[in-house]
Amino acid sequence: MAMTQRKDHLTFDNPVTRHPDITPPKQDQDMPGLDAELEPQTDRGERTYRGTGRLEGRKALITGGDSGIGAAVAIAYAREGADVAINYLPAEEEDADRIAELVEAEGRTCVQIPADVTDRASCEEIVRRAVAELGGLDALVVNAGKQVATESIEDISDEQFDLTVKTNVYAMFWIIRAAVKHLEPGSTIVLSSSVQAYSPSETLLDYAMTKAAMNTFGKGLAKQLAPKGVRVNIVAPGPIWTPLQVVDGQPTDQLPEFGKGQPIGRAGQPVELAPAYVFLASPESSYVVGETLNVNGGADSP
Ligand code: NAD
Ligand code: MG
Repeated sequence: MAMTQRKDHLTFDNPVTRHPDITPPKQDQDMPGLDAELEPQTDRGERTYRGTGRLEGRKALITGGDSGIGAAVAIAYAREGADVAINYLPAEEEDADRIAELVEAEGRTCVQIPADVTDRASCEEIVRRAVAELGGLDALVVNAGKQVATESIEDISDEQFDLTVKTNVYAMFWIIRAAVKHLEPGSTIVLSSSVQAYSPSETLLDYAMTKAAMNTFGKGLAKQLAPKGVRVNIVAPGPIWTPLQVVDGQPTDQLPEFGKGQPIGRAGQPVELAPAYVFLASPESSYVVGETLNVNGGADSP
């Protein structure tokens, strides 16, 4: 068969060229960063994600659902038939409004819950509001995260260490602990861990440690909740182009090279994560429990 002819017609089938090989300019945003100001812009599936009713009638809470991976998950869940609640920081209202518009354009509800997850009472309030305003909860995506690249251990302040652990680990615990009583059999929890959980960068000591904690917590919780019919799974993304990277998530001078070292040769786009989160929340993955699904462009994984 003439490969060139096939290529002409189906270039979108090639994962190397399906999304652009980006070379982001050096840039810096204040925490928490906005998709609206990211250069280049990301693909969260706005124009491309097509749903097929895989999450019909679901009620989902997605933390960090305003931007990046969480935003792609919110769009995909809505197009699969779910109502969603998104949590984010008040400074991210602009990104959140955009995602809410897209969710509502599907005829689904979008509950917007700005709140800081580093506080236990806020985590409990996020769950309370999601349950009250969605009329229940059966899909929880714990995705909010903090990542600050730091060259030397001596430069990691107590404040940074504490905030990273609070955002990535304590908030996960507080939100899930508050949510479990609402989760009926058939419900799912998906955690956003990272390839950093088992392949830590020398500049991400505190962050990588929290992602390992999330991976292990998720696997243990999966065993505890499986008999109750609630499945817990984990997604471990590789380098994905999102605002996280420009709020000091990567050293600024390394941004142009972001993701180019992966076997697939480019950074991932948020939309490339959405199918993993859809699969793990949908009933078709009923025998997938405590799994870490790696979406990383070919990096080693256990
Ligand atoms: P992102 O910046 O778009 O999303 C992170 C979100 O976390 C923010 O939108 C913000 O709403 C939320 N957040 C941070 N601190 C918060 C706080 N104190 N209170 C409430 N919300 C808070 O970036 P992203 O890359 O889409 O990140 C989503 C998840 O994916 C994170 O857990 C991140 O660790 C994980 N991840 C990302 C990558 C990557 O390369 N982008 C790789 C592996 C894992
Ligand atoms: Mg954001």
